[in-house]
Amino acid sequence: MKIAIEKVKRTQVDLAEVEPASHYPSLAEMEKSGEGSFTAPVSAEVSAVWEYGHVRATGKVASAVRLTCSRCLAEYELPISSEFTIFFTESKGEELDEEVELSDEELISASYTGDEIDMTAEIAEQVMLEVPYKPLCSESCLGLCPQCGADLNAGECGCDRGGINLKMAALKKIKIEK
Ligand SMILES: [Zn+2]
Ligand SMILES: [Zn+2]
Repeated sequence: MKIAIEKVKRTQVDLAEVEPASHYPSLAEMEKSGEGSFTAPVSAEVSAVWEYGHVRATGKVASAVRLTCSRCLAEYELPISSEFTIFFTESKGEELDEEVELSDEELISASYTGDEIDMTAEIAEQVMLEVPYKPLCSESCLGLCPQCGADLNAGECGCDRGGINLKMAALKKIKIEK
């Protein structure tokens, strides 16, 4: 997906594209490394306008990725949907400016050279940002029993896993004795 500078200087440019994840080198790399696999193509919409001497590109990306829970090792699917705004300023110097995060709002400043802005890397980046570093099938995932490997989400396995478990056993005993 490319934004033509001459065009955006004259009028708003609206672009939409649906591509398989493998179209984006960094996403293909992620799949190759086994971090996750995309179960839906990446759809991207970008609206670009020229303002105050730079290009403001707002857009959204959507896809879905199958991940492995870092606690219980179950596979689960994570829908991805994210909106972004990127300000592109023409790079005057020899070297490209580093991308700068302006604030914790999703405002990103980037630079471009030449007569068009290639959005490919930015789209992939926005998708990558939505993939958690430590995937969890649920915030309350109980994980696996370190002793027998049972999935504790499916129920207590009965192993003695130390302090917390002893306390629970004691509580159970009190209840039974009553
Ligand atoms: Zn889990
Ligand atoms: Zn166990």
